[in-house]
Amino acid sequence: MNYKAIIEKVFVETKRVPNNGKIATYIPELANVDPTMFGVHMTDLKGEGFGMGDNLEKFSIQSIAKVLSLTLAYKIVGEKIWKRVDVEPSGTKFDSLLLLEVHKGIPRNPFVNSGAIVICDILISHLKDAKVEFLEFVRDVSNLPDLVYSDKIADSEKAHGYRNVALCNFIKSLGNIENDPTEVLDFYFDMCSLEMNCQQLSHTMTYLANGGRKITDGSKIITKPQSKRMNALMLTCGFYDESGEFAFKVGLPGKSGVGGGIVAVYPQHYAIAVWSPKLNPNGNSFLGMKFLEEFTTHSDFTIF
Ligand code: GLN
Repeated sequence: MNYKAIIEKVFVETKRVPNNGKIATYIPELANVDPTMFGVHMTDLKGEGFGMGDNLEKFSIQSIAKVLSLTLAYKIVGEKIWKRVDVEPSGTKFDSLLLLEVHKGIPRNPFVNSGAIVICDILISHLKDAKVEFLEFVRDVSNLPDLVYSDKIADSEKAHGYRNVALCNFIKSLGNIENDPTEVLDFYFDMCSLEMNCQQLSHTMTYLANGGRKITDGSKIITKPQSKRMNALMLTCGFYDESGEFAFKVGLPGKSGVGGGIVAVYPQHYAIAVWSPKLNPNGNSFLGMKFLEEFTTHSDFTIF
């Protein structure tokens, strides 16, 4: 099937849809982005790709980085990781505190903020300098040797991330954070500040379509069973309280970020990244969701 023609058609059609989303403003720096930006890029396992619109404009990948931090932590500690975070959909917003009390400080999954904060704590415990080593890891996975954290975005979130501060301290009080909460949060905010464009992001995530191996040189990032589980988690938990809806409408493992990016993976075939900054009430890109729904519904590019 000719994916270029389908991407082109669906992109043009989606661009015409009235965008009822709202840009995220709780991280002030995120509001300084042109709300009309809209880009898409697909990369297949040969490394060949096709993009449209603002696919080469960098944006804040935010929670999409949680896929990469989980990958590194899973690679380091293996199955023991699931003692610290669960693998269940949360049915709550990404920054909810609600279920932590009930589940005694074990976050529902690694993709809600509480879970990603625990993953940062795990990385700090296992690495000499988590911030530096995580960045080196992402540089390697993405083949972007010059990638850096965005101080602007990170500082903006550090100054306003009250809910994350609450989450981290609450989990600490429940015994599931080993390190100093200030250090854990500092790393978490930096991790969320990474920026990529749709082309780079889709290329970066191809390892999850390729059984855990980089498509460029075949080197192993995680094992095949680990890659399977990462995909399963993205399918069931990648979109917070809209994970069921994403699976229902799009039918692919994926992960969203509050910067308006979404990445989706079709195992053995491709990774695709979409970016449009205006979000729906669940914090997921309004047009990004629409694009992917149309794309998989009118093509054979879906696992179901
Ligand atoms: N850095 C953001 C936060 O912690 C990430 C949330 C998101 O992208 N959904 O609130």
